[in-house]
Amino acid sequence: MIKLSHVTKRYPNGHEALHDVSFDIKPGEMVFVAGHSGAGKSTLFKLITRIEKPTSGQILVDQQNLVRLPERKIPALRRDIGVIFQDHKLLMDRSVFDNVALPLIVIGMPHDEIQKRVRAALGKVGLAGKEKQLPITLSGGEQQRVGIARAVINRPNILLADEPTGNLDDALSDEIIDIFADFNQVGVTVVIATHDSRQIERLGSRTLHLAHGQLINEPVSNPTETML
Ligand code: ADP
Ligand code: ADP
Repeated sequence: MIKLSHVTKRYPNGHEALHDVSFDIKPGEMVFVAGHSGAGKSTLFKLITRIEKPTSGQILVDQQNLVRLPERKIPALRRDIGVIFQDHKLLMDRSVFDNVALPLIVIGMPHDEIQKRVRAALGKVGLAGKEKQLPITLSGGEQQRVGIARAVINRPNILLADEPTGNLDDALSDEIIDIFADFNQVGVTVVIATHDSRQIERLGSRTLHLAHGQLINEPVSNPTETML
């Protein structure tokens, strides 16, 4: 579903954000990408959504070679990838309904179909009945749910979440990650960038560890313990 082969990304200022990264995420997998701030997690997501192109290497998403993907095919690629951000990037002066409906309004879907889809999406994230509220009147966890509803509204095959629980306490983080796990259960491929090792341990999903732009084996947190 998402395959990187020897991907290196060097920004115009010369900074190498990713170096020789290779991995293969299968359809229906749920995978964490772990790494400190600056490790290259956001760059990885920008490459997968073709916001950036790799300096070298190959990227396949949904069987499409992103290095050679023509510009006109980028919108369709992005509709098949739902992206969730830590700060959810909601329009604070627009209702929950408008925020979630936006990707459908953009493609000109008929209004009654939009209404049906928005209701269904809000139901899935546990926000039924909140469509008229402004995001500002919602709690942080609820705002993040609106961001998830907006990301799934086009029924994407892939969900990318960049630090989705960064601002939430443990209980709310669990709820948000469980929503992703629910989408994964119905076949959506889910990739979550996080430095929340608690979630990684709780879910036990495969984890790609990035450090300074390179994939590394899982760091041994306590060497003494492994020796005993
Ligand atoms: P993370 O999401 O893991 O914090 P990023 O992918 O945002 O990591 O950043 C990886 C490295 O690349 C950082 O050192 C960052 O400063 C650098 N970087 C990110 N975007 C750019 C850019 N547009 N130009 C130059 N350097 C960048
Ligand atoms: P949490 O304790 O999870 O951070 P809040 O106390 O912020 O949650 O919000 C609890 C509930 O109250 C939420 O359902 C939210 O929609 C509602 N709420 C919070 N602030 C406002 C407000 N200013 N106006 C209307 N409803 C609000």
